[in-house]
Amino acid sequence: MAGSNRNLLVLPGDGIGPEVMNEVRKVIAWMGRKRAVGFDIKEDVVGGAAIDKHGVPVADATVDAAMQADAVLFGSVGGPKWDSVPFEKKPERGLLRLRKEMDLFANLRPAKVFDALVGASTLKPEIVKGLDIMIIRELTSGVYFGEPRGITTRPDGQREGIDTQRYTSGEIRRVCAVAFELARKRQNKVCSAEKANVMHTGVLWREEATKLHKESYADVELTHMYADALAMQLLRWPGQFDVIVTDNLFGDILSDEASMLTGSLGMLPSASLGAPDATGRRKALYEPIHGSAPDIAGKGIANPLAEMLSYAMMLRYSFDLDGEADLVGRAVENVLAAGYRTADLLTAGQDDKGLKKVGTQEMGDAIVKELDRLV
Ligand code: NAD
Repeated sequence: MAGSNRNLLVLPGDGIGPEVMNEVRKVIAWMGRKRAVGFDIKEDVVGGAAIDKHGVPVADATVDAAMQADAVLFGSVGGPKWDSVPFEKKPERGLLRLRKEMDLFANLRPAKVFDALVGASTLKPEIVKGLDIMIIRELTSGVYFGEPRGITTRPDGQREGIDTQRYTSGEIRRVCAVAFELARKRQNKVCSAEKANVMHTGVLWREEATKLHKESYADVELTHMYADALAMQLLRWPGQFDVIVTDNLFGDILSDEASMLTGSLGMLPSASLGAPDATGRRKALYEPIHGSAPDIAGKGIANPLAEMLSYAMMLRYSFDLDGEADLVGRAVENVLAAGYRTADLLTAGQDDKGLKKVGTQEMGDAIVKELDRLV
């Protein structure tokens, strides 16, 4: 919708990316029609589609457009067609370049269990019912980037691999600030995780988180936990957590663990945020956790809900449209409660009795119909 002052770059990508994005487009159109929530939308290719068109996994002009946009809505990239391209040109490098150039240092991964899908978790229903955790992972520093790194051969002939965990106080503070601000919109609780018992970066992390809390966020409840203990608590009593903030490595592992509490890859959205500019605007990229799923691409059976929920996160975190984001969340909740399931949400067993198996488009249509019913 022209003149909306909300600039959105849509990058559907490869495999099921364009299929699930088509369903989100239906909701974008609905929001424009029914809630006057419009966007100036630009669309471009990324990943394998960009390799086919431009010979690179993301064109410079696309990166520029992402830098200018208020938000980027991303599908997924990759697939067997591009398996043989050199490492630096792989479709996934397109996403990594966008994250790096946009300096998206805070990765938000919610782990929310919808009532209708409680049975899909491997944990007991009473442990995961009502679960709603937000994990914030530092994304641009730590051991995945620290120097020195590499594999060398020592004088004695042994090979040696080195990775360096390093953090500056600024890097710790900016990601913790995101956690505190987010907690204020939720249950107002932050648990910061590191290994201050054995790592210097852990000591620094704990000190800086505590200092920042005292200076600017004393109204938010802050606790600290060693990352290994937190891994255990996530399985024992996940309901104790609201927002968890942690470094790149621990966040990689803990967010995967937390996402599996919910049962399905096809349901999980994410957001990656950068630093606020002078106007308070943060660069942001929203994407489902899942990849391009080449095994089911083109079959019309992909679950579009992770992309749909990524769009809802965008409404909330880039545009402060909490009411509209809640509406999408409620539509998803109700459609699941009514028994609609894409194939990935079915177990092919007794549990599936009374459920309605639907394809990608039918699921998108069901969401739009439910939105109509809700307003
Ligand atoms: P994947 O997430 O694409 O698929 C894993 C399994 O989950 C597959 O069986 C797939 O069919 C299923 N699945 C995933 N999303 C689904 C959905 N929405 N609905 C129903 N089923 C779904 O991971 P993979 O198979 O390891 O990787 C496939 C390709 O995607 C690779 O090229 C990989 O590099 C790429 N990838 C991209 C991203 C990204 O774009 N951010 C993330 C992960 C993997």
